[in-house]
Amino acid sequence: MPDCIFCEIVHKRMQSDIVYEDPEVVAFHDINPQAPVHVLVVPRLHIESVQEVTTDQVELMGKMIMVAQEIARKTNVDEGGFRLVINNGINGGQTVSHLHLHLLGGRRMTWPPG
Ligand code: AMP
Ligand code: ZN
Repeated sequence: MPDCIFCEIVHKRMQSDIVYEDPEVVAFHDINPQAPVHVLVVPRLHIESVQEVTTDQVELMGKMIMVAQEIARKTNVDEGGFRLVINNGINGGQTVSHLHLHLLGGRRMTWPPG
């Protein structure tokens, strides 16, 4: 997808700090971290948001959770706890229109989120 920064990252046309990749999913450090651990888990496929997910992508969505689980373990936030967030659309605070799962950890989160 042209002009999508996460597609650029996935296709290695833009530099990023990748922590995990497989044929379906890529994970990299957020450029503006909101916690000591802040990793974005993205599908290689350009899916704009949760609203665009189709039934044949259900397994891919589950895979993203499993990748987050593995990264949480590798970054040592699994025992203390962490937060997974998907922002959607304007009110959801989504700024990049390529579906991504935020993995945030390493500090105590507050609720409700801002
Ligand atoms: P959201 O607001 O949920 O759409 O999240 C987009 C996230 O992408 C933000 O946390 C940004 O800091 C992050 N971001 C934007 N550009 C880059 C980039 N080039 N590399 C890594 N993270 C980025
Ligand atoms: Zn994209």
